[in-house]
Amino acid sequence: MTDIIEIFVGTLLGTSGWVWRNITFDVPWSQNYFWGLTLVSVVVWLLELRFGWRKQQNPIRHDFWLDAFYMYFNFFIFSIAISGFYALMNYGFANVELDMQSFSLLYLDEYPLIMQLLVFFVLLDFFQWLTHLTLHRVSWMWRFHQVHHSIQQMGFAGHLRYHWMENLLYKPLKTLGVMILGGFEPEQAFVVHFFTITVGHLNHANLKWTYGPLKYVFNNPVMHLYHHAYHLPKDRQYGMNFGLTLSIWDYLFGTAYVPDQNGNIKLGYKGDDTMPQSFFKQLGHGFSFKDSTHTD
Ligand SMILES: [Zn+2]
Repeated sequence: MTDIIEIFVGTLLGTSGWVWRNITFDVPWSQNYFWGLTLVSVVVWLLELRFGWRKQQNPIRHDFWLDAFYMYFNFFIFSIAISGFYALMNYGFANVELDMQSFSLLYLDEYPLIMQLLVFFVLLDFFQWLTHLTLHRVSWMWRFHQVHHSIQQMGFAGHLRYHWMENLLYKPLKTLGVMILGGFEPEQAFVVHFFTITVGHLNHANLKWTYGPLKYVFNNPVMHLYHHAYHLPKDRQYGMNFGLTLSIWDYLFGTAYVPDQNGNIKLGYKGDDTMPQSFFKQLGHGFSFKDSTHTD
């Protein structure tokens, strides 16, 4: 029992310390998630100010500060809150002699570094695409994902406005992805993390960018705007464009849909008028069946 408390408290303190060392520049730039996230946000915001698509949209758009808060909440505060539980889970795994190696199908450490990063990135992106699609199709999961879809005006900070439960819902398939790789996270995985944060910020930015022919490879602000469309086509009532960083999964599996390039579409979902406005009330959203479902 004392083991368990020690692991829990130790990890919690360890993670808090890690966040603090990020803030105080004790962690090198290349791996400093706090200042990295801040830098990427400022750069994408400046791009919005310079190349804005929906010109009438205020640079400090609707819910800008709420979303800015969500960004740091989901990135850091939540990771502190949950780290102890994950440490306990790993401890449980170790006790039943089941470890990450038991499921491995690919042995990444035998590949050159660039291949390691590429396989890690593509595999995890696929599992996240699958999770995202599931969030739209399974009604109890959809209720949590509604927080993200309650965005009324799209801007970079909306990227990380999502219910804290999503941190847990994405975890099983992400873990499976890492298990297939034998528990192996490439040493340079932070390159992948910063790349995906940047693309994710751009996907939500007020920019009319599609990256030309690369739109079939990378998700982009135009494609993702339609993911947030209020009015869904008759044959796509569960939505479309579920990609995170890559768009290839949507093109491969027929879930891509970019009808025109009108930036002034209504965003949200049917029933979004019942979404609470405040952060603290949104924390509790999704746990009740009353929190509306998909169709009318
Ligand atoms: Zn979604």
